[in-house]
Parts: sequence; C-alpha cells; structure tokens
Amino acid sequence: MHPVMKYVSTRGGPLVTLEAAIMGGTAPDGGLYVPETLPSFGPGAIPAGEFPAVATTLLEPFFAGSTLASQLPAMSADALNFPVPLRALEHDGDGGLSVLELFHGPTAAFKDVGARFLAAAMARIAGATPGGPPATILVATSGDTGGAVAAAFHRRPGLRVVVLFPAGRVSPRQQHQLTCWGDNVTSLAVEGSFDDCQRIVKEAFADQALAARHRLCSANSINVGRLLPQAAYYAHASLAHHAATGQASSFIVPTGNLGNAFACVWARRLGMPIERIILATNANTTIEDFLATGQWLPRPAVATLASAMDVGNPSNMERLRALAGDAAGVRAEVDAVSVSDDVIRATLVDEYRRHGIAWCPHTATALHAYRELPADERHGRHWVAVATAHAAKFDTIVEPLLGITVPPPPALAELLALPSRFDTIPASLGALAERL
Ligand SMILES: *Cc1c(COP(=O)(O)O)cnc(C)c1O
Repeated sequence: MHPVMKYVSTRGGPLVTLEAAIMGGTAPDGGLYVPETLPSFGPGAIPAGEFPAVATTLLEPFFAGSTLASQLPAMSADALNFPVPLRALEHDGDGGLSVLELFHGPTAAFKDVGARFLAAAMARIAGATPGGPPATILVATSGDTGGAVAAAFHRRPGLRVVVLFPAGRVSPRQQHQLTCWGDNVTSLAVEGSFDDCQRIVKEAFADQALAARHRLCSANSINVGRLLPQAAYYAHASLAHHAATGQASSFIVPTGNLGNAFACVWARRLGMPIERIILATNANTTIEDFLATGQWLPRPAVATLASAMDVGNPSNMERLRALAGDAAGVRAEVDAVSVSDDVIRATLVDEYRRHGIAWCPHTATALHAYRELPADERHGRHWVAVATAHAAKFDTIVEPLLGITVPPPPALAELLALPSRFDTIPASLGALAERL
C-alpha cells in the first residue's frame, strides 16, 4: 500500500486531492499542482512490459487514497490504447540513436497521451457526481492541443468540449481536426488571433457566475492529469531498453511549454533508468537564456516552422524550478539546444537522405541536437530523440521540402474524411457566452 498522495501548488497553497487538482487545472494561488512528495522506485521495482501495465504501476502512488485509485488500471487500458514504439535508427559502438514515436494516437501527436488520460480521469470524476449540467471543457488552441482534446473527450458522458481557434490562422489539416467532431464538441472560429482566444477563455473562467453555471474546466497542458501519463512513456521506453541491454537511456525532447520534457525529469526522479535529458527548442530561446544567464525573461513568442513549440513563456518551467531549486539546480537536470528554421529545414532533408524517413519539424530539432553532440558523448550512450508528431500533420512544410507526399497514418486519414462543422464568432466574451 502506498501512503495517501496529496497535491500542492508550486507557490505553496493548501494540499488538495488528485481529483481537485485535475478538475481545478491551475491552483487558486496561480501556481501549478505537483505531488506533495515524489515516490521512488528501486531497480527492478517496475518490470518492463506493455505501456498500460507500466503506466499503472508507475502511477499507483500518485493515485493512492484517491477515489480513482481502483479505476487506474481501467483508465490506463482505456486511454493508452495505441503503441509508443522505440525505433532503433543507428548503432554507434555500444550506444546509438533510437526514436520514441509518440504519434500513433488519434490526432498523430504526443498530446493524445495526456489528453486521453485526462479525459478518462475527468469522465470518471464527473460520473461520480451525476446530475446537473455537463462539465464544460473550454480550450483555446493555436493548432494541436484542441484537436487532441476534442478527440479525447468526444462522446464522453457528462462532459462537453468547446474549442476556440483563430479563424483563418490554423493549417487546413489542423482546422479539420478541430471541427470534425459534432456531438458533445462545439468548434468556434474566433474572428481574431490566438491571443484573443486565450483572453476570452481567461475572461470566461474569471466570470464566476458563468464558470459555475457551465461547470467550466480547463484541459490545458499544465493540468497534472496530462503530465502524469507522459512520465509513463519515458518509463516504458527506458525500462524496455534496460531490460534488453542493461543500459540506461538519454532523451532529447522537442520543447515548447516544457510539459513533455518535464515529465521525463519526473520519470528519472522516480528511479527510471534515464541518464541525460536535453531540451531541443526552436528559435524561442527563453529556456536556453535562463540556463546561460540564470535570468528568467519570458517574452512574446516568435513564429517558427515548429509552430507547436512557439512559446515565449514556458509555463511548466515553474514546476522544474520548484523541483530543482535555482538555476544551477535546473542546469544539473537538463541541457538545452536552440534550433533555427534554416537548420530545421536542413535536418529534415538530411534525415530523409540518411534513412528515407520524413519526420515532422518539431522532431527535427531533437535529431539536430543529437547530430551536434560531441563524438565522445554519442559513443557508449543510448540516445533517444522524441518524435512528437507525424510528418503528415505538417504536410505543407515537409512535402515541398522533400519533394514527396507523406500519406497520413490511418487514424488521421479517418478524421480527415469526416465532414467539418464550425461557427464563427466575434472575439468577445459575450459572443462565447451566447454559445455556451
Ligand atoms: C505541443 C507540442 C510540442 C511541445 O510540447 P511541450 O510539452 O509544450 O513542450 C512539441 N511538438 C509537438 C508536435 C507538439 O504538438
């Protein structure tokens, strides 16, 4: 039996249950929820195995004492129902390069893992308190998040989703993934920018009467219910490699808001066989600059080819700093490499030439960081570049560059064949409130 786990804000607020942390999203003091203590698994405590089984064992201590504890195995089986394969690309002495492919879910990006697990959790929490209106998951999206959340919550009883996206500013395939659902998913194109969408969502949560009437909930990437299952794919991959070779793995993670990479830091702290962690970013260098200077200077995002990483104020840095202490502590956990658009293009072409594989622009940042490693750091280590999305999601960038067509994987092709439905609204809270 694990001791009861409570959750606390990075800014020190009161202890809450797992259910409250998941339904609340952000803590009332503006901080992010983290477990009160991090459990630790000794060597051999988690056998290598199937992804849902590893996830269940890894996450058990985080669910101890929660009403969800007995449902964790069913949640893992329900949410983590697609493969997360580790694909060996190159051998280099007793080291080499593998790619962790996280894009085999319904919307072909790693966000499917967190979104599906969060939906499985919220559906069970909402189901435990029946009656009243459904809880409304309100999301603003610049592209990938909204599709993963809509897919994950589609037809979940007791829950509905309202997705806001900037009209005319998301790619055609992204727009299709936001608007092909119907049923309990409402898609609204906002006449404005992504910042307008985010502002309206913030105003909706701040309007206490409106928030209470519609039981508004957030599903954005700072939700602890999205982070926890992400630690599980690092456990699954590193345990499998360790069982086969006796060797630990080092990960290079394409990074924007630091949700994916922070989950890797957690997995290592939990005792998984993980050595180094390198963050690969695009031209948004807030994290690199912090590691270099110790100064945290958030700034507006600049647009890049790896658009899902266009973040100037990576919010999960608050969790990493709370865990690591100061800048020196953060430096001891991670390194960071910034990759320009020109280098992303060159890397996509180079990797296609080497292996005949088309990767997405986000994944290219991690592959470039691997190529840049000094030879003595490459030899003898098992490096894993994390592939965060399928290249077919970014067809308008990848196809002209490589001169090929990249067919969408089957799950994505199914979505693209569905009809698209959405309404367009002005960029105001009043217009949103009318649609709720
Ligand atoms: C969201 C996203 C990222 C960035 O992940 P973070 O958790 O925000 O660091 C990278 N690649 C793709 C394809 C994404 O959708």
